[in-house]
Amino acid sequence: MQRKYFYIISLISTVVLLGCKSQYVIKNVSEVEIAQLQTDIGYLASDELEGREIGTKGEALAAAYVASRMKAIGLKAMGEDGFLQHFSIHLKSNPHADAPAPDDPVIKGRNVIGMLDNGAEKTICIGAHYDHLGYGKEGSLYIGEPKIHNGADDNASGVGAMLLLAERLSKLALNYNYLFVGFSGEEKGLWGSKHFVNNSTIPLPQIDAMINLDMVGRLRPDHRISVHGNGTSPIWGDLISKADDGFIYSFSPSGIGPSDHTSFYLVNIPVLFFFTGQHSDYHKPSDDVELINYQGIQKISNLIQGVILQLDKQPDIPFQKTKDETAETPEFKVTLGVMPDYMYTGKGMRIDAVREERAAHRADIMAGDVVVKMGELEIFDMMSYMKALSAFEPGTTIKVTVKRGNEEIEKMVTFEEK
Ligand SMILES: [Zn+2]
Repeated sequence: MQRKYFYIISLISTVVLLGCKSQYVIKNVSEVEIAQLQTDIGYLASDELEGREIGTKGEALAAAYVASRMKAIGLKAMGEDGFLQHFSIHLKSNPHADAPAPDDPVIKGRNVIGMLDNGAEKTICIGAHYDHLGYGKEGSLYIGEPKIHNGADDNASGVGAMLLLAERLSKLALNYNYLFVGFSGEEKGLWGSKHFVNNSTIPLPQIDAMINLDMVGRLRPDHRISVHGNGTSPIWGDLISKADDGFIYSFSPSGIGPSDHTSFYLVNIPVLFFFTGQHSDYHKPSDDVELINYQGIQKISNLIQGVILQLDKQPDIPFQKTKDETAETPEFKVTLGVMPDYMYTGKGMRIDAVREERAAHRADIMAGDVVVKMGELEIFDMMSYMKALSAFEPGTTIKVTVKRGNEEIEKMVTFEEK
């Protein structure tokens, strides 16, 4: 899961569903499955793979492993090179440049794609990113010498669950096709899923829904689970309640969030994203296999299977747009009136859009500017931006420093009275 966006999940509501028993409550507790999860997650999160950072040998090994598992399950290779879909990202060292400079670095990665082909016209995509942070050079919350970040929860757990679902669905008679995708480059900015939706190996209009699994390995005893995207189709709520087996839900309706489902939502595909929540090992070398709740992964897979069995009977899966969340949650007394760029990975907070007649607009701050200082507070990322914002009172005027191209500009911003 991506760090930049993690802190901005707002408008979450906690819900306990009191559904009646239905045929879609799955209670599979097979020991064979648990053993397979241990094998899959154990290998992906082993030191041998060195944290699976995109562009490294560990990432290639992980991709080969996921491909071999898909093959063993009997999925059809749907990459461009067997199960693999290669892509490369030409980085821009100057974020304001229109295009990368010729000597800017190029990073090569690969998605792993396999299909359960039921001869249907329509397809449901089930995805999980398999890349992680390598030695933690970028995106880590760990302070110290470089160390392997094994990413057992983030996201070997989701890949394990995806393979488990592939195995189960391959034994059922189903109406839709099911496309399983292991994404790479998620941690850097949803690179693999963006590449996939722009270069899908099946026509994109045939994909009716996407289910994303990212960090599902830490189910706690209270069975609390986060489900995002439940507002992206009017049918999701009903399907989840009929498949529910005693979870406590944190629902976040938005289709935009800190993981790969965002790329699908942005091309108008209904999405659902499951995760078991934040923890103190998140993006640290201590996110390791000893802390994985395998029975929990199985329980979540049961829930998702229950949802899928109902989806499989739908004539179509309607999409609806959701109100997209911004950093400006109600606990702030002031607002700049801007839309942050959640995918920006440089230092500071890059502005995607400026709202007319609001504080930033009146101070002549523009889209594309990167806020690096507010008052005396330095802005490193989204988190420090939000912290800074919470420190100011309405009616006050502060100096805001923005980077515009290579120039640093100071603007006086007055926060409006509410
Ligand atoms: Zn992550």
